[in-house]
Amino acid sequence: MKVLLILTGGTISMVRDAETGALHPADMQTFKAFVPELFAGDIHVEMVPFEPLLDSSDLNPDSWIQMAQMVYNHYDQYDGFVILHGTDTMSYSASALSFIFEGLSKPVVFTGSQLPVGVLRSDAKENLLTAIEIAAAYDANGPIVPEVCLYMDGELYRGNRTTKRNAEHFSAFKSYNYPALAKAGVHISYNRQFIEPYRGEVLPLGLMKKFETRVAILKLFPGITEEVVAAILDIPNLKGVVLETFGAGNAPTHEWLYRRLRNAVDRGVVIVNKTQCHTGSVAMGHYAVSMNLLKAGVISGYDITTEALLTKMMHLLGEIPNDVKKVKELLSTSLCGELTIE
Ligand code: ASP
Repeated sequence: MKVLLILTGGTISMVRDAETGALHPADMQTFKAFVPELFAGDIHVEMVPFEPLLDSSDLNPDSWIQMAQMVYNHYDQYDGFVILHGTDTMSYSASALSFIFEGLSKPVVFTGSQLPVGVLRSDAKENLLTAIEIAAAYDANGPIVPEVCLYMDGELYRGNRTTKRNAEHFSAFKSYNYPALAKAGVHISYNRQFIEPYRGEVLPLGLMKKFETRVAILKLFPGITEEVVAAILDIPNLKGVVLETFGAGNAPTHEWLYRRLRNAVDRGVVIVNKTQCHTGSVAMGHYAVSMNLLKAGVISGYDITTEALLTKMMHLLGEIPNDVKKVKELLSTSLCGELTIE
């Protein structure tokens, strides 16, 4: 089995600066020296790095395309791919890649760590070695997890269902609205019923590389003023907004909020309702306080994560810039398992 390791940076690849004490990305040779076992096992591992390696706070849509392109360029030569990535924005990248790929039929596993690989107590080696094993896991039918997923601290999740929830513990991620695809203990046990099934053949891989960045996230809070809402909704050429609401998708009933939202929707801005709760789904119309959103033309994000919604919106608005109706229709559809409509 052959696995390609794409090293983008992040804590996993970092070393401490002797003078300032701050962590910064190491070069690939330094990284390799910390994990000699990577290149000594049954799985043939090769590595390609980003140059320079980056903290994931510095990644953007161009970086997502770069990662996807690296997979694409080596797609036929490898059985699976592992992307080493900083944990801070890993859920955004994993979500974005799930939308970029068309016809993915090999595993693409994101992982990283909370402590640098060179630190004695580091979680890096376990995460890395298990991710490689998952990327190379095939049975008689083909790859066991032929989708973009994320492995960390014993759990494998669908990438576009994850959120970084912890900056302290090794268990940094959670998939609140979709079960784990696998759990790794002594053995790796796969929850096959939740994994995208392999279609029986490796299809040609397509890449959809256009992202619209004229989007925003508007988080509601008790006491939010018209000025704040206007500052976002009146951004010139704004194309899409993730509206973070309360509970089951609720919002204050101010007339001005309705008017501002309606006005933006009428200008062609796509606005999607995403609850601030991690678990559960938007159900507009369930409470009277969400009726105005419905009337304003805000659409439901169901149980999607903010990371998946934002990247999906950027992807759809980038790929289909002139058809708001189609974009809205696809935002209300599961493209690759990122949402569930009850
Ligand atoms: N700041 C780091 C990053 O996201 C944190 C990490 O890797 O855990 O790149």
